[in-house]
Amino acid sequence: MTANPRVSLAIPIYNEEAVVPELVRRTSAVLDSLPGGPHEIVFVNDGSSDGTLAILEETAARDPRIVVVELSRNFGHQTALAAAIDQVSGDVVVLMDGDLQDPPEAIPTLLDHYRQGYDVVYVRRMNRKEHWWLRMCYYMFYRLLATLSSIELPLDAGDFGLMSRRVVDEIRRMPEHHRYLRGLRTWVGFRQIGIPVERAARHAGSTKYSPLKLLKLAFDGIFAFSIIPLRAAAILGSLAIACSFVYALYSLYVKFWLHSPQGFTALLLAIIFLSGVNLFFLGIIGEYVGRVYEEAKARPHYVVRRVFSQRVSSASPRIAVAARR
Ligand code: UDP
Ligand code: MG
Repeated sequence: MTANPRVSLAIPIYNEEAVVPELVRRTSAVLDSLPGGPHEIVFVNDGSSDGTLAILEETAARDPRIVVVELSRNFGHQTALAAAIDQVSGDVVVLMDGDLQDPPEAIPTLLDHYRQGYDVVYVRRMNRKEHWWLRMCYYMFYRLLATLSSIELPLDAGDFGLMSRRVVDEIRRMPEHHRYLRGLRTWVGFRQIGIPVERAARHAGSTKYSPLKLLKLAFDGIFAFSIIPLRAAAILGSLAIACSFVYALYSLYVKFWLHSPQGFTALLLAIIFLSGVNLFFLGIIGEYVGRVYEEAKARPHYVVRRVFSQRVSSASPRIAVAARR
């Protein structure tokens, strides 16, 4: 651990032209105030279709601290973050969103904790500004995941946070495709601490996470860190068998002693319920099988079109890490 580490900010950007100028201004101001250096900001342009790339390139041409990694298309937030992590060169890396929901002014506090010996300083999100129903979904998801997960995942922690070089190196060694970075970060271990930081509202523009993308991320978290859904099939199946024994005894009693006809409705309900349960768990098994299939294909996680900065040209070896598998 160094007292004045070189800081790399890793920021994925997708169609954020309305935010980027203010983002660059605020992050640069924070880096200016930090001792040591040289620090850097790695922006990953995740296939933006607006003017984002032009603005980023223009700022990179002015400021040698800025590196712009241009992906060949939109790969998604978590993959863009992975691309940023592959390019950073600092002693510590701070992951943050590009919409200024994660205040850059919190970075000195993250560094204070790093100096106290923590390898991971993650931010616990306080006072979210989203709709109440989305906040409720987040709240329930993090608690569900914490219950299901095989490791102790922190509650209400996003990707915003600081990681030391050795944590970053371990994450880079992980080959998995469906990345739930905040979980992988916890998995690595070392000393970790969560600090509360107020989560701001988006500076401008609108969210790039559709409800479907959010659900996908939630599933990535659950399926990457728990096999309890698979076990649930066995548990529920055993329960159904136990119930069917009891019901069989009851039916026999009614048939031979009471001689009353048995209900068609009960039969129908049992069939519908059990075939529903069957299909549900087939779907769950399918999720895991699909993920195994994706890993088996072992495609690279993303494709880099160009790395742009005053210090590195696109022929730089930095690009080689992009296709690490
Ligand atoms: N983002 C990205 N690729 C995507 C979607 C989002 O790089 O496919 C970036 C986006 O520009 C932002 C960050 O990821 O910097 C978080 O996205 P957003 O703020 O839209 O998500 P939310 O905060 O609403 O969950
Ligand atoms: Mg956001």
